[in-house]
This record gives sequence, C-alpha cells and structure tokens, in this order.
Amino acid sequence: MAVFCTGCGVKLQSENPGQPGYVPVSALEREQVICQRCFRIKHYNDLTPVPMDNDEFIHILHRIGEARALVVKIVDLFDFNGSWLPGLMRFVNFNPVVLVVNKTDLFPRVNWVRIEQWVRRQAKEGGLKPVDVVFCSAEKGTGIQALMKSIEQHRQGGDVYVVGATNVGKSTLINQILKQAGAEKAPVLTTSRFPGTTLDMIKIPLDDGQALYDTPGVINDHQMAHYVASEDLKVILPNKPLKPKVYQLNPRQTLFFGGLARLDFASGERQSFVCYMSNELPVHRTKLEKADELYSKHLGGMLSPPGNESLKEWGPLDQHTFSLKDELCDIVFSGLGWVAVKGTGARLTAYAPKGAGVYVRPSMI
Ligand code: GDP
Repeated sequence: MAVFCTGCGVKLQSENPGQPGYVPVSALEREQVICQRCFRIKHYNDLTPVPMDNDEFIHILHRIGEARALVVKIVDLFDFNGSWLPGLMRFVNFNPVVLVVNKTDLFPRVNWVRIEQWVRRQAKEGGLKPVDVVFCSAEKGTGIQALMKSIEQHRQGGDVYVVGATNVGKSTLINQILKQAGAEKAPVLTTSRFPGTTLDMIKIPLDDGQALYDTPGVINDHQMAHYVASEDLKVILPNKPLKPKVYQLNPRQTLFFGGLARLDFASGERQSFVCYMSNELPVHRTKLEKADELYSKHLGGMLSPPGNESLKEWGPLDQHTFSLKDELCDIVFSGLGWVAVKGTGARLTAYAPKGAGVYVRPSMI
C-alpha cells in the first residue's frame, strides 16, 4: 500500500534518495512518516531541491474544476500581485471562492477598512468575485476562527480546496485551522520560507465525511524568491511588522534595494518615496548619474543581497519605465515589497532581475 508524507503529501519511497518522497526504510515504521526532504526542512531549515513539474501541478488543479466544492484562495498581502495567480480562475470553474488575505501581522497600524476595499477592487479587476474576504495571520493565529466560520457557511456540506501560490502561507494556515479546530493527531504540514514545499494534494478529513484538500503551491516565476538563494530569502522576506522607510527625493535621484532592485526618479516634482520592504533590506540613496558605477562597484558588497550564492547566477537587471498620473500609486517589486509615490507626472525607471514582476497599482496603504 502506498504511504504518503504527512508533511508535503508526496508518495513515499525508499529506493531512490535523489527523487521526491525518499525516506529511509527504518523511518517507515513510525506512525506519521515524513519524507527526508520535509525532515531536513523541519530540523535543519535546509531545502533539498526536488525536480518539480508545473504540468503535474496543473493536472492536480484540474480536479478542482471537476468537483463541486468551495475554493479557499490564499493571497499574501505582502506580495498581493505576485501571489494572485491570474490563471487560477480557469481551474475554479463556477465554484464559490473565499479569498483569504494572509500575513496581516506584517502590517501594524493600517486602516483595514480601506485595505479591504482595495482588496475587493483588485479582486474584481482580476476577474474574481469572492463570496467572502477574510483577513488573517496564519503565523499568529488571528482571523482563523472567522475563516473557519466562513468555510462552514459556504461549503454547504461539500469539500474544500485550499489553493495559492507557493509561499503564501498555505501550510501554516492549514496547520492553524487543524490546531484551532482541535483536530487530534492532525498531520503537521511542513512549512518553510522556501517556495514549493508542498508537493502533492494532501487530504484532511472533515467531520461530515467531506475533506479539506491542500493543493501544491503554484509556482509563480515572477516572485523575487525565485531569483535569490535561500540565504538571501531570510533578508528579503519580512518576519516583523514593516517599518516603512521614507525618502524625500529630488528628480535624478536613485534608490537601491540591496542590489536586487533599483528605482530611478527620472523627472517630476520633489516628493516622498515610501518604501514598504523587509526591515533587514538595506536601502541606499544616490544620484542617478552615479548609480550605474555604484552598482558595478558595490554589487554583493554594500549593495547586498544578492550574496555570494545568488551572485553565481546573477545577470543584468531589466528596466521598466513608468509615467505616473496624478494619484497615489505603488511601484511593486514582486516578493520584495513596494514603494508608494504620489505620482503627479513623475517618470520612474524600475530595475529588477529579468523575469521578476514589476507592477504599478493604486496605493494599498
Ligand atoms: P506555503 O508554501 O504556502 O505552504 O507556505 P508556508 O506555510 O510554508 O509559509 C511560507 C513562509 O511564510 C514561511 O516562512 C512562514 O513562516 C511564512 N508565513 C506563513 N504565514 C505567515 C503569516 O501569517 N505571517 C507571516 N509574517 N509569515 C507567515
């Protein structure tokens, strides 16, 4: 009989240590077996890369559209656009969706009513009309009761599929639900800051014979997390409430975010640039005409991350030019954070690794 890892859902095997689901024979006798990869993530915070295939994920997601079920879609408020997964709606079919906005603990004093309106507007633009929007912090365990109530109300006795991009906190959230629901002997899903930790669909039985399915995180190549080594992830993914850094910039000044991204204020009126990024990420201000030289001299040193590991595969940054209208907007570097600017005719050039998502959106905060 096949046995599955209770941490990530992969089918366990003891033949090939290089393939997903490997576990030594001796460990198979335990009651709740986790694969060696989950074991290493859990105990050593060390990620063993596993060959993964996005087609396989998509195949798993297709099952959702075929079922009549409630879809619980999780987004990461810190990387809203990067974790949105526009393609997901194809899989949802006509099933109802509860939208969960996670990682609220990273936002201390904000106007949640305003943010909820903003989330609903963004969702509508993304073609989604959720039956409910629930804010929570899977890490701190807040909002979980409201979410459980909403799930019960909307699932109408059916199954529940939890979907989201990698790293939105899906496993942490499901573990919280199990904990707060008082589920005895609940499997503990492997959580980590590495994208793509959950490998296959995990089935969690509900009281009435239905099930809650944890689906693998859909890998979103636009997230900054895919361009840096794990040592740098510790710096760029915030784990404390964001303390926005404010810079009054004159035109022809530049901000560097470590050496991972850069924002040039090409022209416009002097104004404030409010940076919402990990408190650990160093921001440097310089003159635009000096920026290229600074970058080539100090990348990996003063301008780090990227650290040594990431630098092994580092290429030139891509440019994105924006002309802003007269409204508050955010320049978003997917997975790294955003910079709020007033607009008023400003021309900006944003730089990020090739393939990393850079967007402009109406201001969130
Ligand atoms: P998954 O890939 O979606 O299953 O994500 P995980 O549950 O493994 O979480 C990814 C990372 O986000 C981990 O480093 C978690 O500690 C972190 N995380 C998850 N939920 C929260 C949250 O509510 N707040 C914060 N600050 N971090 C979270």
